Amino acid sequence: MFDLYCAHCGEPWEHDMLHDVEGMDYMQAAGAFQVQGCTVFQILRQRIQGKGSVCKAERVVSDDELAGINAAHEMSEYPEEWDYDMARDIFTGEFNINAIFRRL
Ligand SMILES: [Zn+2]
Repeated sequence: MFDLYCAHCGEPWEHDMLHDVEGMDYMQAAGAFQVQGCTVFQILRQRIQGKGSVCKAERVVSDDELAGINAAHEMSEYPEEWDYDMARDIFTGEFNINAIFRRL
């Protein structure tokens, strides 16, 4: 199993948790997670802050890593296709885009 990363704080979550979000099916939970991050999994916080509230937890990743996490979420609406490793490499500079352009 793989992890999902919050688009706001960068915290990793078990992918399987999307099946357990109260009142949402899997794809609804995935869509909500893209926008709201951790808050989707925090039922108590949802009740207090409202359904649409986004995660306000302290960030655990760098700007570049967070940019990569968000880029991964934009790749697809299917969590299986969120390639965090690739997206993160692009934003942290470990993925050398120039090496690809040079070959074209
Ligand atoms: Zn979060």
